Amino acid sequence: MKQQNRHTGIGLYIFLIVLFIIIWYAFSGSKTSNYSMNSFKKDLKNEDVTSVTIKQNSEVPTGSAVVHLKADTNDYTIYLSDVNAFQDYLDDQDFTHYTVNDVPHDGWFLQFLPLLLVIALMFILFTMIISSQQAQVGGTNSRMMNFGKSRAKMTTKEDNHVRFKDVAGLEEEKEELGEVVDFLKEPGKYTSVGARIPKGLLLEGPPGTGKTLLARAIAGEAGVPFFFISGSDFMEMFVGVGASRVRDLFSEAKKHSPCIIFIDEIDAIARQRGSGLGGGHDEREQTLNQILVEMDGFAVNEGIIVLAATNRVDILDPAILRPGRFDRKIYVGRPDRKGREEILKVHSNNKPLGDDVDLGQIAQTTVGFSGADLENLMNEAAIKAAKSNRAYITQEDIKQSFVKVGIGTEKKSRVVSERDKKITAYHESGHAILYHVLPLVGPVYTVSIIPTGPGAAGYTMALPDKDKIFETKEEMLENITVAMGGRVAEEIIFGDVTGGASQDIKEATKTAKDMVTKYGMSDELGPICYHEESDEVFLGRDYGHVKGYSDEVSSLIDKETRRIIDECYDRAKKIITEHRQVLDNCANLLLEKEKIGREEFEALFEDKAVNE
Ligand code: ADP
Ligand code: MG
Ligand code: ZN
Repeated sequence: MKQQNRHTGIGLYIFLIVLFIIIWYAFSGSKTSNYSMNSFKKDLKNEDVTSVTIKQNSEVPTGSAVVHLKADTNDYTIYLSDVNAFQDYLDDQDFTHYTVNDVPHDGWFLQFLPLLLVIALMFILFTMIISSQQAQVGGTNSRMMNFGKSRAKMTTKEDNHVRFKDVAGLEEEKEELGEVVDFLKEPGKYTSVGARIPKGLLLEGPPGTGKTLLARAIAGEAGVPFFFISGSDFMEMFVGVGASRVRDLFSEAKKHSPCIIFIDEIDAIARQRGSGLGGGHDEREQTLNQILVEMDGFAVNEGIIVLAATNRVDILDPAILRPGRFDRKIYVGRPDRKGREEILKVHSNNKPLGDDVDLGQIAQTTVGFSGADLENLMNEAAIKAAKSNRAYITQEDIKQSFVKVGIGTEKKSRVVSERDKKITAYHESGHAILYHVLPLVGPVYTVSIIPTGPGAAGYTMALPDKDKIFETKEEMLENITVAMGGRVAEEIIFGDVTGGASQDIKEATKTAKDMVTKYGMSDELGPICYHEESDEVFLGRDYGHVKGYSDEVSSLIDKETRRIIDECYDRAKKIITEHRQVLDNCANLLLEKEKIGREEFEALFEDKAVNE
């Protein structure tokens, strides 16, 4: 902890100064102690003495005499047991060059000064020890004065120049967050009608997609202070520091309300309790608990909104997602083609572009790039242009930078070839069509061929239209059918299949097997549970695992599972073949836009009806 070091530093200085003063006082009187009365008498006789100053002590009649000698610049002091006797002696010797000072009035003070200083010093050291201990156990008073040291950075509205226009693409997200901005601007408008605005919002998505930027933009738009702290800033070697930093942060934020607190990379503290190697992490849990306590503590409409960002929502402690905490999640994904073009535009605002630059074309070829990658791309291009002493960026600069940035990006996600894009487009269209056509699943919410991470080329997301507790047999079958859709579409179009459907197949198989062994949905086997609970967390739990049923039953389970999968596969094939036109149209639309929403997707079916 830095702060404590600083305290001891000051303490050391004070200590040294006081020590010096004490030593000086202790020795100042004795520096001429070797000058004796006898030497003085000798010097006086030789007429070497020019003048004498007699000082009386407060304990009359003692005192001292300061003697000035000829041919000697030093002063010599004689300690006198009786000032009057000394004075008489000088008179006897007819020496008149002496003066007598009165009894000093501040004598007692000067005498006690060293003692006073020692007491003061001890007092100072004592309070320091106390206060640093308090800081360790989380006392606020000493730390609030040192808010700057609690690592959170506050940006005032004057310093924050980020606005929504700087965040390109993310239109839906901005629209959703507009409400938050409005609330921060005019909390009264909302509170007067009793509206409740969420206290906490969680921005989730892959790195570099603009979560931090978006959070800053909210503060910028609303014109409120912005407190920034990263999850890892709470972590220190000393136990309790994290929790006390949280307390500081919130108490400071309350003074500046309305305002925004932004906790970046919250996964560093809000990891699921008891997960990870090495058991629980007390410090992290304390910090997390403190955040939850603070969030529960302030009233809903106090004007503080806590934003947090993470790219690992799956590992977060579910406690933080509870109502009254981070109960609203906003997904910030990788941009689609149009989004990428806009981001490129934003980042070429201050860069002169040659007339051959076609940002639309660059956007087309940068599938899977995040906003940060694109910014990096334009920056590299600008460096290239400067290196070749050109005042503007050419298309060639960007293309060459693409290779450089692309290689780095490939590690994180992947740069997708045209062929892969086409396969993914058909695969996802296959899923989407089945979601739409089958009555119990769907409707389709989004279809996308933007890679979401390594090994995930695209996704089709359905919106379940009602809350369900139980899934019926028919629903399970339809889900298996949907899962088959990707592979079926690949087969119909390319006459060949890829490994891209492995996840789908795994899920379908699991559902089918559960239907047979767990839910008793197979007529052949009846409602008997053949499912072994496998909640044990031991590694290698399958070793020495004893099946609770015969080989005969085992092969029957396989047969039944197989039958379910086959039937679903055939059904998927039949439906997709019937909608071949939609499949082509959907795939083409995806290749063009990369991501399509519900309305666009459903319109494809209407087109078909018109054509027929
Ligand atoms: P995250 O917090 O999601 O990891 P950042 O907000 O830190 O990402 O983004 C890093 C940088 O990438 C930003 O400073 C900005 O220059 C650029 N960037 C990312 N997304 C966008 C976007 N949507 N519009 C404009 N620039 C973006
Ligand atoms: Mg960030
Ligand atoms: Zn799939």
